[in-house]
Amino acid sequence: MPRFLPPAGNPITLEELSAVARCIFRPTPAPAAFKRQIAAMTGVPDVFLLSTGRAAMSFLLRTLRQQCQENNRTRVVIPSYTCYSVAASIIAAGLEVMVCDIDTTTLSYDPAQLESIDYTRVLAVVSANLYGIPNDLNRIEYVAASNGVCLIDDAAQSLGATLGNRQVGTFGDAGLFSLDKGKNITSINGGVLVAKNSRLAEALGEGLRKLPKLHINTRLANYVKLIAYAAFLHPRTYWIPKSIPFLGLGETPYDEEIEEATYHAQLSPIAIGQLSRLEMTDNSRRTIAKRYQEELRDIPSVRSIEVIPDSNPVYLRYPIRITDPTIRTTFLNRSQKLGTSVSYPASVATIPQLRERIAVHNNKCDAGNAVANQIVTLPTHTFVNEGDIASICNLLTTSR
Ligand SMILES: *Cc1c(COP(=O)(O)O)cnc(C)c1O
Repeated sequence: MPRFLPPAGNPITLEELSAVARCIFRPTPAPAAFKRQIAAMTGVPDVFLLSTGRAAMSFLLRTLRQQCQENNRTRVVIPSYTCYSVAASIIAAGLEVMVCDIDTTTLSYDPAQLESIDYTRVLAVVSANLYGIPNDLNRIEYVAASNGVCLIDDAAQSLGATLGNRQVGTFGDAGLFSLDKGKNITSINGGVLVAKNSRLAEALGEGLRKLPKLHINTRLANYVKLIAYAAFLHPRTYWIPKSIPFLGLGETPYDEEIEEATYHAQLSPIAIGQLSRLEMTDNSRRTIAKRYQEELRDIPSVRSIEVIPDSNPVYLRYPIRITDPTIRTTFLNRSQKLGTSVSYPASVATIPQLRERIAVHNNKCDAGNAVANQIVTLPTHTFVNEGDIASICNLLTTSR
């Protein structure tokens, strides 16, 4: 069978699958154990589990909105290049998206742009920390605090990354982690919130008790997805789901339909198993990232992302910018079976369903557009071997 690498993913063990099977027929204390582990890891005691990361984001935003005394604070600032689900969650929470441009070299907010925003109608600023690389969070935290707005530290791709001695996801007022299929750890679906102030934590706890459980159809779908994921993630079998177009694997559609519900608790043994392996997984991802960095250093049209000083990324994927569009297209065409990805194909400001409905700070999203046109992510998951790295780097060197 042909070798076909997925762009991201974490293997699921048989032990985890059988733990899920055992959980289906009886209530399980496992979510509580998982929450304690996240609390221990982040140092934030108040942890909340939801159905997905986007559900967690929209639930958090609605709660922040209810807590806010000033009625006119309805805008949420997000980076011009981030996951589309962030924008969808803001709309789902009944709030407005405000795009602020990024810095192409770091993928973090352009500090001058962020500082020049008029914050009078802003409720919150959201970080991105894409691909496991921390944003300039100290600076973003300072800007948010000095303007009296909340900071949501979106660590959906950065569980385990640190900046200084702080975990990514613990900057600002609340942090978010995702347990979706392509994230640092997965249980197929799931979203995690950590809340740093007790007033917010209390409101989140109260709100969570009112949320419904996931619909039975979504639960059943999760089990089907779990089995498919466990069976087909391997490079020898990944071509099978990849050849079924309606699965849309590797695509990132913009979707405002968000089922806000509590976490699918029966899936938590997988999250617990993956969390116990996270350090090992991260070390392996960092090693692979380092190999790419060494091999690609001298290719003229390839740029690595600059890491913020004092940060320790986890490299969920290894992003590069290919500045020559012809080389980029050739490389993408030739590397389809090697787990390479265009990531998000457009900046948030150019998502067709959003274009009419969002504000773009200073009308500027050149950097976000440039990144969307240049970025390619290289796989770093545990199935990537030295031969794959060599093939990818060789294709990059020879594409023109
Ligand atoms: C994946 C992701 C989300 C949403 O998480 P889901 O669990 O997929 O809903 C939010 N923000 C970022 C940056 C993400 O990568």
